[in-house]
Amino acid sequence: MNEIIDHEKINSGIQAFLEKSHGHFIDGNWLDGAANKTIDVINPATGDVISSIQSGDESEVDLAVTAARRAFDSGIWSKMLPVERARIMFRLADLIEMHTSQISLLEALDIGVSRDMMQMIGVKLAANQLRYYAGWVTKINGETITNSRARPEGREFLTYTEKEPVGVVGQIIPWNFPFAMAVQKIAPALAAGCTIVLKPAEDAPLATMYLAELIAQSGLPSGVFNLVNGYGRKAGAAISSHEGVDKVSFTGSTDVGKEIIRAATGNLKRTTLELGGKSPVILLKDANLEEAIPAIARAIFFLSGQNCMAGSRLFVHGDIYDQVLKGLKVLARSMTIGADMEGTYDIGPLISEKQLTRVMAYIDIGVSEGARLITGGKRVTSLSGYFVEPTIFADCDPGMRIVKEEIFGPVLTIQKFDNEDLEEIAALANDNIFGLSASIWTTDLAQGHKLARRIKSGQVGINVHAAIDPATPFGGFKQSGWGREFGREGLEPYLETKAITAYL
Ligand code: ADP
Repeated sequence: MNEIIDHEKINSGIQAFLEKSHGHFIDGNWLDGAANKTIDVINPATGDVISSIQSGDESEVDLAVTAARRAFDSGIWSKMLPVERARIMFRLADLIEMHTSQISLLEALDIGVSRDMMQMIGVKLAANQLRYYAGWVTKINGETITNSRARPEGREFLTYTEKEPVGVVGQIIPWNFPFAMAVQKIAPALAAGCTIVLKPAEDAPLATMYLAELIAQSGLPSGVFNLVNGYGRKAGAAISSHEGVDKVSFTGSTDVGKEIIRAATGNLKRTTLELGGKSPVILLKDANLEEAIPAIARAIFFLSGQNCMAGSRLFVHGDIYDQVLKGLKVLARSMTIGADMEGTYDIGPLISEKQLTRVMAYIDIGVSEGARLITGGKRVTSLSGYFVEPTIFADCDPGMRIVKEEIFGPVLTIQKFDNEDLEEIAALANDNIFGLSASIWTTDLAQGHKLARRIKSGQVGINVHAAIDPATPFGGFKQSGWGREFGREGLEPYLETKAITAYL
């Protein structure tokens, strides 16, 4: 594929894209905001300003909601023949794949992820999400219900349900893997027949803006997808409190998730939340360490730990504790740190200076709490961006803040257990306010499945961590969120059920 890609042309196209000050995409057009205030977009690998976006607030959100409402009420999308609706979604998936290089380059510049990784994971996953939900469009059905109401001789009831789109949906996304996030949000909403007002994260909006350009070419009617740029506390808050929005779907921090719930009470918006995590990784003593150790390193250090599923709490059986510590330390020390687009580095930057300060503060907390720092722990000062060494703390206690709180950085905590009892191992792993993801490493699959049943978490991997797939429900127990995305369960929150009973 590479030889037919004209990199020079792509790079110059992207240069022109970066030079624009990006507005809001409302009713099929790009608009500048009323206040004309802008937000700098920064490349976290260098700290340089690479582009800018408009900073929208209530007025732009209101315009976008009005456009989305008009499009919804007109039925131009929800009443389009399902097969035609699916066709447009398939076309958008193809357009995304055709622009893999451009999207990957933008995401690489915006969040510091390597272009290779983005091509392999971010773009492919996004296109497949659309295809998966395009497949659902023609299969959204109600059911007939057996009705037990008393009836006189000769009369009958017919009860059935119909599924209707929930209406105008607000979608607020974070900055880690933002392109895939944007697509995973819009795909089920479009499949259900909803119209959308989406807000990208102010820290990483570029690839989502490119998505809006592809949407404009896809044949999706104007007003079905709208995008407002801006800060969370302005544009984001305006979406979650707007009375014209029927449902809000949010991915981000648990604290903001709670604010969104409060803002959504005004008109009792349907709300789905995909929030933080502090995912346990449990290494039983019979695990295949050759496979497990590199996988555990990927589980925490992928995207420098800026990933809600990051395997940040490792539990290791005492018999293999020293061996595992040694293996992880060697691996972490061999990791290369940098950002070069082509993906030759293992560890990229953190997203922002704010995130860097937060992660470094947690590392200091870990040291002062008495955890044993076995590798890393420092900012990489030879690079100008926001880089932190892969960091591992051993001999951690359940009461430490670095064990309890989500750090969202390349920081692994390790705790030892000497127990064989699955209930007790599960209790250790479940001792946290979050419950998003988990993994268990063992060669005894029966033990693996039994332990999986005891883990309070939306996803559990056995000999795999974070096995994301469009068909597999994704979301959290406890304070990791409300509801599920992906799969059939990810479609349901975009649908209302109407029960119709006829007295025949
Ligand atoms: P992080 O702390 O990881 O940056 P946030 O939860 O703050 O994650 O941000 C995720 C998304 O939520 C971003 O698009 C951000 O702009 C938005 N956001 C932040 N605060 C609010 C808020 N009060 N209301 C609505 N959206 C918000």
